[in-house]
Amino acid sequence: MPDGSPPSRARTLRDPDALAQAGLVDDPPALTAVARRYAIAITPTMRALIERPDDPIGRQFVPDPSELAAAPYENPDPIADDALSPVKGIVHRYPDRALLKPLLVCPVYCRFCFRREHVGPDGGLLTEAELDAAYAWLSAHTAIREVILSGGDPLMLSPRRLGDILARLSAIPHVEMLRIHSRVPVADPARVSAALADALETETPLWLVVHANHAREFTDAARAALRLVQARGVPVLGQSVLLRGVNDSPEALEALFRAMLRARVKPYYLHQLDPAPGTARFRVPIAEGQRLLAALRGRVTGLAWPTYVLDIPGGHGKVPIGPGYLEGDAVRDPWGEQHPL
Ligand SMILES: *Cc1c(COP(=O)(O)O)cnc(C)c1O
Ligand code: SF4
Repeated sequence: MPDGSPPSRARTLRDPDALAQAGLVDDPPALTAVARRYAIAITPTMRALIERPDDPIGRQFVPDPSELAAAPYENPDPIADDALSPVKGIVHRYPDRALLKPLLVCPVYCRFCFRREHVGPDGGLLTEAELDAAYAWLSAHTAIREVILSGGDPLMLSPRRLGDILARLSAIPHVEMLRIHSRVPVADPARVSAALADALETETPLWLVVHANHAREFTDAARAALRLVQARGVPVLGQSVLLRGVNDSPEALEALFRAMLRARVKPYYLHQLDPAPGTARFRVPIAEGQRLLAALRGRVTGLAWPTYVLDIPGGHGKVPIGPGYLEGDAVRDPWGEQHPL
């Protein structure tokens, strides 16, 4: 690069050398082994939000040598997706709903991802035959009311392919709702074209759950992308992961949930970090998470309050783990004072 020219922001950063050229890492060889093991991607939109590699946006995406050190409690399949997969691409844990993972590609690769052993740029696109087998399984299981597209990131599919999948799922008589979990509207908002938004306008009700962990992820471009989707009658919910150094303060959580509401996004879940390998630097203890949420209660609109959930390691399901307010025969108010019941 000639002296004085601005850094290129046009492409997604995908390896340690590209990260070094962008000024995000000092010692690219120290990351060679991490890069071989776990996918890296930082979109131009996310790059533009990173002021320092250890700021709340940088921490989510810039790899770190510590990722190769797994703690004893960590597990490559922390919530037992593999054990609960009856056919390729499907995960079935609850009677009324199932996940369908049509691909394992994401717009960015989050360093704390619970599926980090599986996701990646060349990963996991189900073939037509595999998709047919997944539709057949869903059709045969008449208790399934909801199909949740996950991955990977389903909004990385082309509008035509995504539209085909949604049409096939909508045609299953007992499927009464569809859900998509995605990071695309914040991580790569330009991908949300009118054609992609049109693909989401299904006869069967469809809900979008957007993954974002910091208020700054709600850029003008992200809000515009969400507007396109919302204009098609798709309600949008938010999901976040409680992360050390990203959103582990009452101020950061309040700003995040308020940013969601301003974007017409209802905070749905705040996830306790799943114990995927090499993610210890992000861990916040549950007791601390409860204190953080308690600090928001009474101070922010109830609409800003997500359910704090733990996906019980081993595949035992998600349960709420938020702060409690009942204490024996008394109840604690949001400001800490007890009142008899
Ligand atoms: C998280 C998850 C769901 C969705 O759970 P909700 O509580 O309905 O959001 C469904 N199936 C599997 C396998 C999951 O891991
Ligand atoms: S977008 Fe989701 S699935 Fe993809 S790397 Fe991030 S957390 Fe994992």
